[in-house]
Amino acid sequence: MAIIEQLTKDFLRTKKLPHIWCPGCGNGIVTAALVRAIERADYEQRDVVIVSGIGCSSRAAGYLNFNTLHTTHGRALAFATGLKMARPELILFVIMGDGDCSAIGGNHFIHSARRNIDLNAIVVNNHIYGMTGGQHSPLTPGGKKATTAPRGTLERAFNLLDLARGAGATFGARGNAAQPRQLEQLIARAANHKGFSVVEALSPCPIAYGRRNKLGGAVDMLKDMKENSISMERASRKEQSELEGKTITGVIFAEDIPEYAAEYYNSIGKSIPVRNDG
Ligand code: SF4
Repeated sequence: MAIIEQLTKDFLRTKKLPHIWCPGCGNGIVTAALVRAIERADYEQRDVVIVSGIGCSSRAAGYLNFNTLHTTHGRALAFATGLKMARPELILFVIMGDGDCSAIGGNHFIHSARRNIDLNAIVVNNHIYGMTGGQHSPLTPGGKKATTAPRGTLERAFNLLDLARGAGATFGARGNAAQPRQLEQLIARAANHKGFSVVEALSPCPIAYGRRNKLGGAVDMLKDMKENSISMERASRKEQSELEGKTITGVIFAEDIPEYAAEYYNSIGKSIPVRNDG
């Protein structure tokens, strides 16, 4: 059986397909990268939990054949925190869109980072609220149009990974849907890291964002994404002026400090249950 068919059979709830995503949406590419990262790590399916909020990308939780929690808008990290504290041996991936994570769930995001709790936040950044009507989010680049910014937003966008790092996250990486192998590797590295990990996955939304901003179709958006990306390694050899308009990909920061759930269990004299990996 071809690898892709095997992965589909093992890790997707095929009865839930076809998915709801528009043709050319990057959500499927990001979801596939997550599945391959989990497969590569060889986790037991029963030990993996996918938590999601609300939005187009958060529908992935319904299609993935693991333990899943499809929660409320902006609150995925709050649900995931409770679960991690009760069952710290589980591996949690928290899928959120840019608005879900950085606006409605912004407080949960910074406090998860501050605690350094061992959750893997996969933030699918398509620069817009897709499902709820094309409103601009805190990650919409300045000047870009949305239903709530018909002449272009006047607001400056967050740099999500700067925000995460400033709040205390200990792993931050950026990849994109145009380079899915790199994205898969970044998600795998995030999962291996003990502490709050953020993977920003840039993803095209050709319908709610691309069409309104005249960015062409999905292929054009993916092509632009790839051409405008530069790896952390290559960027480190360039002058600042040469990086104008470029998006840096790869592991942006990583540090080892004590993880919250382990510290908590230690403080009450208990050890974290050991995962039965067989
Ligand atoms: S609206 Fe955008 S993000 Fe949502 S499914 Fe369609 S292309 Fe994807």
